[in-house]
This record gives sequence, C-alpha cells and structure tokens, in this order.
Amino acid sequence: MAKVRDGRRCVRYKCGLISTIQDVLRKRPDWVEVKDEEEWDFNWSDASSVRENFHMFMKEHVRINHFPNYYELTRKDLMVKNLKRFQKGLEKDFGRTEASRCDFFPSTFALPSEYHLFVGEFSRSPGSTWIMKPVGKSQGKGIFLFRKLKDIMDWKKDSSRTEEQTDAMHVENYVAQRYIENPYLINGRKFDLRVYVLVTSFVPLKAWLYRDGFARVSGTRFSLSTIKDKYMHLTNVSVQKTAPDYNPEKGCKWQLQQLRRYLTAKHGREMVETLFKEMDNLFVRSLQSVQKAIINDKHCFELYGYDILLDQNLKPWLIEVNASPSYAHSSQEDYDMKCRLLEDTLNVVDMEGRLTGKEKRVGGYDLMWNNGPVYKEDVNPQTLGSLCFTANTHLGCVNDREKQLRQLLNPFQFQKKL
Ligand code: ADP
Repeated sequence: MAKVRDGRRCVRYKCGLISTIQDVLRKRPDWVEVKDEEEWDFNWSDASSVRENFHMFMKEHVRINHFPNYYELTRKDLMVKNLKRFQKGLEKDFGRTEASRCDFFPSTFALPSEYHLFVGEFSRSPGSTWIMKPVGKSQGKGIFLFRKLKDIMDWKKDSSRTEEQTDAMHVENYVAQRYIENPYLINGRKFDLRVYVLVTSFVPLKAWLYRDGFARVSGTRFSLSTIKDKYMHLTNVSVQKTAPDYNPEKGCKWQLQQLRRYLTAKHGREMVETLFKEMDNLFVRSLQSVQKAIINDKHCFELYGYDILLDQNLKPWLIEVNASPSYAHSSQEDYDMKCRLLEDTLNVVDMEGRLTGKEKRVGGYDLMWNNGPVYKEDVNPQTLGSLCFTANTHLGCVNDREKQLRQLLNPFQFQKKL
C-alpha cells in the first residue's frame, strides 16, 4: 500500500484497458484510479504499451502487469526459437530422454529465414498438412492451411502485385507449422484449451496455475477432406463468432471442470491425470525456455493465456502463449470466471501486503513452481517419478476459492465464525 488518503492507505492504480479488469479494479476496497500523468502504484495495461509504462527507477512496491520483453514467449517465432534452444541445451547436458520432455510443440519454421530447412522437412512427409501463421497477428487473422509448396509461393509472390510493389512492401514474417491432423474431438468437433498461468518472477522462476479455464469448441464438424474451412480448423472464438450458424446462446465454450469430468468418464482417472501432468510439464518447461531471454524485473508480473490442443492420444500440444489474453466474455458464466481469475491475480500480486510469501495456494491459484518443484502437502517427492514434478496443481478441479481466501486472508475472523 502506498498512499494515505482520508486517513486510509490506498493503492493508486492505472488501467489502460476497458474490460473486465476495470470492473475488478473498481470493486477492490481502498484502490483508487488515477489518470494520465498522476503517479501510480499499480499499472494494468495492454502488452503493447508496456514500454510507455515501464520506468527504470520504480519504487520498491510498484507493480506492472508485463515484463519488458514479454514477447520472447508470446511471439510465435520467438517462442519456438527459445524452445528449440532450450531443448538442445537439455540434450547436451542431460541427454535425449530429458530433451524429449520438450516434445510438446509441433515442428515449426520461421519464414522467410528458415525457408530451406522447412522445404527439407516438408518434402520428407509428402501429403501432410501444414499451417501458416503471421507471427505478429492474433485471433486467427492471416492464417491458412496448405499441402502444396505452391500455395505458399503464392503467398510469397502474391500475383496481384507488381514486382516493384512486392519489393517495396515489407514481406510479413510467418511461421510454417505442422498441422495437428488428429485432434481430439468432442461430438466430432475440434477444440483447444485456454489455461492461465501467472508468473511473479522469472529468476528464480515462480509460477502459479489457475484452476479454471475453458475449451473453445468449433461449431463445425472436423474433417481433413477440406483445408479451406476456417470454422472447422480454427477454434478462436473471434473466428467462430463469425460463422453463419453461430448461436450466441449456445456459445462454444466448455469450462475446464466440465471437460475434465467428460474425459474422466470416457478414459478413466489415470489417463486424465497423466494428461494433466503432461500439461504441467509443458507450462514449466516453456517458462524455463525463456528464463534467460526475459529481462527479470521484480516490479513485473505476467498473466499468460496458454492455448493447448489435445490430440486423439490425449497428448497436449502447445499452440501459442498470449500476453494479453482476452478478458471479453461470451456469457455470465464466462464473465464470472474471468472476474475470479483477475481478483485472484491481484490477491497473489498482493499490493495490500496481506500474504507471508510462503503460500502454496491463493484463491484459485496453486503454486506450481518455486525455483523448483512444489509438491502437494501429502506427497512424498521420493516416491514420485520425475514427470510428477509439479504435483501441486488442480487444473480443472473444484475451485473453492472463497472458502480458501477466507481462511487465508482473515484467519482470526474465520476462527471466530467457526
Ligand atoms: P492466433 O494467435 O491467430 O490465435 P494460433 O496459433 O492460436 O493463432 O492459431 C489459431 C487457431 O488455429 C488455434 O486456436 C487452433 O485452433 C488452430 N491451430 C493453430 N496451430 C495449429 C496446429 N499446429 N495444428 C492444428 N491446429 C492449429
């Protein structure tokens, strides 16, 4: 807490976004909004404006919701570059088995710079499907699938332009990525998962996993017979919303709890636990892969939105990480979930100074990694295999956050009530 107003301590916040986060900040007791040039203690803004808001000399207690070069993990080409480098390092230092734990991203090449490497791999698997994605865009914009090299020649040349025009234009950077051809389907439809991971420090790495999240299910049945139908192949809500038969009442989201129950009923508890453990592995390794690249600053935290696709073998694939995940909502349930997530993010960041710093759980957040694995209270690390290193996670499990917060933030009052 920073400033005293009317005899009370308060947190002065600045918020550059008009969305759910504004509602959450406004409701927070003793937080006051400041505008323009006024001094602030807490800043929540879009990732693209972090440079304007980040200052070299910020006071000890000040917090801002992005790291200065957050894009090392969130730009499609940089994420893969960092992951490949990290994987190589693991292989060199610890061997193949350890490096294989990073086999959770589809084979990807940056274009135009890795064009020749890409063509080499492309020709080794004739007939397979690839996906082209512009590195700096989001919401499915500019994405297309292809099976023939000539389809990306068209992209490179773009016959509608003269050569002079093409030269004058800056050729947009893309990644070419192997398309997951066997996605797990629900009622014949493809989906991907949105999971939230909060990082409060990169060195040492301290990361929290939120219990809630959702699956975005396509409204069109999946098939590989056509690669032109974006409603079938791209699960972004922003894409699905524009489908002619989109039904806003039904929407296209499943809460993670619902998905976890569905998968458990179909495949049994053990298989689903393995899947969720593999996801824990994916979160931690991807964060480790950028530990050296990201400028660690104690004033920064980052709420990442992970996009994960499951295939028919229940293997999770990392598709993308977002630094400004959407807080827009498609239903009341969705709005409530995002409010819970944002409130708990503020609880972990703890501008009010109510935590001890030793907590393994704050509301819906479970501490997943704290400069090393974090285990559940009742688990003996000696008896676990190395895959289970992030055992203190409850993704898609019950989120009884209010009860936990009552106990955590107000133990005295809670005991009195009991
Ligand atoms: P954007 O940033 O534009 O949302 P994404 O990389 O998240 O780009 O891709 C958009 C959608 O395309 C994903 O939600 C997913 O449904 C689909 N997709 C992306 N990459 C792949 C892939 N390698 N295999 C299968 N589907 C993919």
